[in-house]
Amino acid sequence: MNRCPHCNADPCLPLWRKLALGPSSHARCQVCGFRVGVDVDKALLAMAPSFLLIVVAAFRIVTDPVFLVLAGVTCLCVSGVLYVAWVPLMPDELSNASMVEAGRARIAAEKQAASERTERAP
Ligand SMILES: [Zn+2]
Repeated sequence: MNRCPHCNADPCLPLWRKLALGPSSHARCQVCGFRVGVDVDKALLAMAPSFLLIVVAAFRIVTDPVFLVLAGVTCLCVSGVLYVAWVPLMPDELSNASMVEAGRARIAAEKQAASERTERAP
């Protein structure tokens, strides 16, 4: 579920970067450089357990602070797992096969140049 919709690289983002993607934000694939976002509907559904707990706490349906803290940690873990395993990445800009190939070549050249710079540094 961390597959780039442009170049099919898997993973195309570090896990923490995918977790930090909101419904309206985007990141650049580390392999081809094109922008990716998340499926908004699934991202909001993945956060539903945490939203539900906030509603429960706000309306004082449950007031035990120990239960609320434990339920909050559990809901955040469930939301995180759902976000990583169930929410797919979506293209956030248009691309085609030749653009993706050019992007992959550019990123690979940049990484090669960066590694040569670090090898030359004393
Ligand atoms: Zn990509």
